[in-house]
Amino acid sequence: MNFPTPPLPTDYDSLLKRIDSIDPIRYGKSRNFIDGAVTYLSPYISRGIISTRQVYQAMLAKGYKLYQIEKFASELAWRDYFQQVYRAIGPRLFTDIKQPQQLVAHHQLPLALQQASTGIEAIDAGIQHLYQTGYMHNHLRMYTASVTCNIGRAHWLQPGRWLYYHLLDADLASNHCSWQWVAGAFSSKRYFANQENINKYTGSRQLRSYLDTSYDLLPELPVPAEWQASTRFEPVTPLPPSDALPVLQSGQQVFLYHHYNLDPTWRADEDSLRILLLEPSHFQQHPLGQRPLDFVLHWARRISGLRVFTGEVAELATAMQTTTAQLNKQAIYREHPAFGHWPGQADARPWLVPEVQGYFPSFFAYWKKVQQRL
Ligand SMILES: Cc1cc2nc3c(=O)[nH]c(=O)nc-3n(C[C@H](O)[C@H](O)[C@H](O)COP(=O)(O)OP(=O)(O)OC[C@H]3O[C@@H](n4cnc5c(N)ncnc54)[C@H](O)[C@@H]3O)c2cc1C
Repeated sequence: MNFPTPPLPTDYDSLLKRIDSIDPIRYGKSRNFIDGAVTYLSPYISRGIISTRQVYQAMLAKGYKLYQIEKFASELAWRDYFQQVYRAIGPRLFTDIKQPQQLVAHHQLPLALQQASTGIEAIDAGIQHLYQTGYMHNHLRMYTASVTCNIGRAHWLQPGRWLYYHLLDADLASNHCSWQWVAGAFSSKRYFANQENINKYTGSRQLRSYLDTSYDLLPELPVPAEWQASTRFEPVTPLPPSDALPVLQSGQQVFLYHHYNLDPTWRADEDSLRILLLEPSHFQQHPLGQRPLDFVLHWARRISGLRVFTGEVAELATAMQTTTAQLNKQAIYREHPAFGHWPGQADARPWLVPEVQGYFPSFFAYWKKVQQRL
């Protein structure tokens, strides 16, 4: 199996060059294969370092027309779609959205996932690759979620938190909606993949596994031995210590960054205090591992003058010798459903199509509207 090493630019100019090197036509033809021409841009898009709109516009600037790059544009739109769902339903994202997942045996983390011992060679190699790089190809994420929820019969939430913890591109909306989509809690039917399908797209040659059967039989499969053991998933987020903060002067603006907005161009020409706010309560609910956190801090440190504050919003006011009411007047942050409780004014997210807003029951209903306006 050929798992390419994800190219991960570490500065903004190299990242722009990476965007420029994308071949959206080859992408459309090969994206489902693990060595296909995928972009590896998700860590940057999910962290708000670049936006879906920016990537799409970069393709137009290179002369591509929508009809040539429709597959690529629609994949970018999935990101915005899930974000719109989260915005509309809030914390209901962390429960079964449309209907309860069927045939749930337990609500824990299967050991087979944690130990990369599912018995499916491509998935086990994919998990090892995830542990080494923080990246997993979309098809492998689908296979992993499918075998976990629909064959191993684990409820999607704890496995979803486990994957989120390890991904450089950990995105609450994309991750939790995708797990639910595979498990049939946010889709009309569960997603199954058999061994033949997995071999075709990953290059594995495994035969006689428990998935080596027909699609009629997969939903009826008894839970394989590999999926019998499970554990609690209670990791911690290795949050960094805070930097020293200055006193907030009256009338002085303060730009609050979260780990979903690390855009170095955001209000870049305005003079202001810049603070990355890492709330322990947020990370207790949604733990993030060392690798993704290092990625966040690397990009945060590239924003000129930015300081890190690890603490709750109310503590931030105290640390800057001000009040939350004062912060409310002087703070600006970029909208995100997880941080609706922050003080101040929220700037809009750079949506692919800002005019298409709200909850759409399916991606295709959303995409139809987006497509008309692209
Ligand atoms: C179970 C499961 C969990 C997932 N968890 C996450 C997650 O936590 N964070 C995350 O960013 N993505 C998640 N995805 C979506 C998808 O797998 C990744 O966005 C994609 O694999 C990222 O790799 P790439 O940048 O090379 O993608 P490409 O294929 O090159 O796609 C280009 C861009 O389009 C967007 N995109 C592509 N496919 C999807 C998709 N299915 N959903 C949403 N956006 C998409 C991304 O912004 C991506 O960077 C998950 C998918 C599944 C099935």
